[in-house]
Parts: sequence; structure tokens; C-alpha cells
Amino acid sequence: MLPMGGRMQDWPLTVDRLLDGAAQWHGATEIVTRYPDGSVFRSSYADLALRARLVSQALRKAGVGQGDVIATLASNSLDHLAVWYGVMGIGAVCHTLNPRLHDDQLAYIANHAGDRWLFADGMLVAQAGRIAARAPGIGTIVTINDPRSGGFGEYPHLDEFIVGCDGADCAWGGFDERLTAGLCYTSGTTGDPKGVAYTHRSNTLHAMNTMAPDAFALSARDVIMPVVPMYHANTWGLAFSGPAVGAKLVMPGPQLDGGSLHALIEAEGVTFAAGVPTVWQGYVDHLRERGIARTSMQRVVVGGSACPASLIAALEALGTTVIHAWGMTELSPVGLVATPTPSVLALSTDEQREQALKQGRPIGIDARIVDESGRALSRDGSAVGHLEVRGPGVIERYVGHAHSALSDDGWFDTGDIASIDRHGYVRITDRAKDIIKSGGEWISSVDVENALLTHPDVALAAVIGIAHDKWGERPKLYVQLRPSLDEGDGRDLAQVFRDYLAARIARWWVPDEVEIIGTIPIGATGKIDKKALRALHEAGSQPAY
Ligand code: ADP
Repeated sequence: MLPMGGRMQDWPLTVDRLLDGAAQWHGATEIVTRYPDGSVFRSSYADLALRARLVSQALRKAGVGQGDVIATLASNSLDHLAVWYGVMGIGAVCHTLNPRLHDDQLAYIANHAGDRWLFADGMLVAQAGRIAARAPGIGTIVTINDPRSGGFGEYPHLDEFIVGCDGADCAWGGFDERLTAGLCYTSGTTGDPKGVAYTHRSNTLHAMNTMAPDAFALSARDVIMPVVPMYHANTWGLAFSGPAVGAKLVMPGPQLDGGSLHALIEAEGVTFAAGVPTVWQGYVDHLRERGIARTSMQRVVVGGSACPASLIAALEALGTTVIHAWGMTELSPVGLVATPTPSVLALSTDEQREQALKQGRPIGIDARIVDESGRALSRDGSAVGHLEVRGPGVIERYVGHAHSALSDDGWFDTGDIASIDRHGYVRITDRAKDIIKSGGEWISSVDVENALLTHPDVALAAVIGIAHDKWGERPKLYVQLRPSLDEGDGRDLAQVFRDYLAARIARWWVPDEVEIIGTIPIGATGKIDKKALRALHEAGSQPAY
């Protein structure tokens, strides 16, 4: 029997320690922010740690304490990080609002969360004012980001807010690691948005898990550019994992078009970036149009929606390794990453390409697929069921809900439909609410879209299920053509696309109806908005060919 007394330190896993570590051991490492006017502002982890403490001190002076909810409405910048850590460091809750949401949704979310303060990008003050007018709990608005742009109306800038503070009288941490640190609402594609509260512990563990070699393989030698906004599911953890490894950070601000990203990547030597497929599509299109064949970006995480094979091929041709990842707000958010195992590396090149299209294997979570009755299905690559997960970064219940979000045996239903293969790779075939059931059988909209996206004339493709008398549902395909293509060049493009698909997928999966539209609607987190497409169909839009 072990004698009494031996033990390890009780070291709460609070996120302030991640930034303190970065400031202490990588204090001179740069944090680069691109302001909305395109100019670049250089600072460091030492600067950030100080600025965050000044924010903490000013908040404290203003009466903010543990558990108070402080909202942000901002793009990725040094100031946003300073508010993020300044709020979390004193045990208050940082609630990131997504500026791309409608005012109604933002007002609902701000009221539901009990937001008291709002830190907003200078260019978003009008929107911030409208939200505050409808969310009476918000007593003060402070503007952040480019201090030179001015025009903030009645609201002070962060520089004014922290005047008189020196950062000295401001202790961080010292509270329970299970305290809520951050808050993010799901985008509410079905029903009202729901709040997901991350704890200091869950954020720290998620950062540890995602920076490991089998996930994003982050290190102090990386230059990390989080293209994914801080308001989209916790920056996929990068606002924590970047400081945790002490990597240089490049915060791209609001301009995420291909040209702006390319300029920043090359100027700052970005080695690692992360974002949704539509953003990277814009990036590769920009490079293709200019005949640029190489990029200095070594690795890119593509997630948020399925990464098309054509995009993987285009990025790899530029010399970038694509890391396909899957996650959701409720998971902090990363849950699956498609990094190879020895058994995958032993496959043929074509088979490895197939694997890279899957969403990957569990990172920091446990996962299973179950049938309608909750019975676990086998990992044979063909059984398809509801994907369920559990883990230290997985939600237990939504904000304000009296009941748990879990099944009786402790699993969270992701709302995704998937198979798991013998390598442990999960393949998402659809969201449960997007899946198409034709004649009693499932059609994977993701597979149909992926097949069409390899066609050179197609910029974006989206498949929805529409009611059908005989089959229950049939797939309908929406296509957005590449900008250079003239719709009226005489070809029956709908038939061209149907023939193309017929050669690649099961015949009964080929959509009966194909509609070519100018722009496929994109939602608040940069993903194709199928709800809007369903509404378009309901409204009886006419094919444009
Ligand atoms: P919302 O889409 O409502 O904004 P999230 O950003 O949390 O909310 O999205 C989570 C969902 O996005 C997942 O449940 C899944 O359907 C989809 N998703 C995320 N990553 C991928 C991926 N790599 N492939 C396919 N679907 C993905």
C-alpha cells in the first residue's frame, strides 16, 4: 500500500494560464492584426497579456465580476483577443456574437445570455447600437480594433476605456476550472439559437487535444492564421491553442476574400490556417486566376462543412497539406480530424484520397453510430446511423435548459448521419435534417455535391430534398457556375450536369431537377444555407436555363 502524502499540484486548468505562459516564454513573438483598411498592426504576446490585463482592470473598476456576461461583435484582431482574455481572466464570460446574423437573432441571443457589455469593431457600431437598443441589459458599448478609424459616435474606444489602468492591480485565475469562460450560440438552423457554455477546463483540454500531432500538429515554429472567426465556434480552439504553443498569430480582420488572404499569407509567412470550404474556394480561385502556383501555407484545416475533393486537389497542388476536420459548436468544436494512421498510409494513393474526404477519426472525444432505436452499429464502413459523441469538451446541457442534452447513457446526438470504417474514420453523409429519403432509401446530399464539384464549370453545388408523390422525396440540385462561364452558351447545362453525375453516382441518386442560380445563399458561418434554398424552392423559383 502506498504511504499517504504523495500528490501532484492542484493546478486549475484555467485559460489565463495559456496566455500568461505565452507572454512569459514567447513574449516577443508577434501578433499581427490586419485592420479593415488593409494596414497591418504589429504587437506581441507580451503586449497582448498586458492589454488583456488592462481590460480586466477596467472591467473590474466598472463593477464587472465573475459570471457577468460580456459580449463581443468583432472580427479577429489583437483587441478582440485582449477582450477575450481580459474577460475570461477575471472569471467573467466572453460571449462572441456573430455579426453576420440578423438583428432579430442577435437581440434574442443577447437577451437570452444576459449580456451586460458589448465590445464591437469600430465598423460595426451601428449594428451594436441596434442590438443594445433591443437588449436592455447591455449598459455600455466600447469600440475596439483600429483606433485611427474614429467615427464611433457616442461610444468610447478601448484605448479610452483602459485609460488610468496599469495592469498591476489585476490578479487572474484563482477560480474553479469548471467556471464558464466562453459562450457561443448555435446558428439556429432549426428553431431558436441555443447557447453553449464552455468552461476553462473544457477549453484548455480542447486546446491540448487539437494541438497534438494527430490533430493540427501546432508548434512554436508555426505562424497561425485563424481565418475562422472567433465568433464561429470558439475559433476552432485556435485563440487558445495558438498561445498555448507560443506560435506567431496573424489575425486577418474582416476581409477574408481570396486576394486579402493570399497577401497576408505570403507577407507574414503563414504556415497554418483554418477556415470553411467557401473561404478556401475563394482563395484557390484567386490564385488560379492569377496563375500563382505555390503558397507558403504548409497546412490548412478545412471544416465546418464537407471539404470537396476538388478543393483538396487544388490546395494540395499549391503545396498545402489539407487537414479535413469536423466539429460543431457543442463540441468546443473539433471532434474528428482526418490525419492518417499506419493502416491508412498502407492503402493505395486513390484509397488514401478517399479517406481524406472523410471527416476523420475522434480527437479528444469518444464516438459511435447508432440506429433509430439507439443500438450501436458496427464500424464496417457501410452501416450508416446517427453519430453520437461524448468527452470533456462536449456539451452536457444548453444554457437555460433544465434538462440534459444527452441520452440516458450519456451520449450527445450530433444530428449528423455517418458511417465509421475499419480505420476508425467517420464519414458524414448528411445532417439528419438535410438527408433525402427517396423510396425509403437515403441519398447523401454530400456525395452528390462532391461528385458534381469536380466538374470544371461548377463553383458551388447544393442538393436539397423536395417532396415527391411517388418516392416521398427526390433530390433537387442547385448549381452556381464559375464566374467566367456564360450560361447562354447554348448547352443544356442541366442535362450536362445530370449526365456527369450519372457517370459517377448511383442512377437513382441523380437529381431530377437541376436549377442554375446566380448565387447560392451562404449562411452566417460561411456555409451553404440549405434552409434558404428550401425557401427558394417553396417560393417556386423558375430554372434559369
Ligand atoms: P451551424 O452549422 O448551425 O452554424 P456548427 O458550426 O456548430 O453550427 O455546425 C456543426 C455542423 O456542421 C455539424 O453538425 C456538421 O453537420 C457540419 N460539419 C462540420 N464540419 C463538417 C465536415 N468537415 N464535413 C461535413 N459536415 C461538417
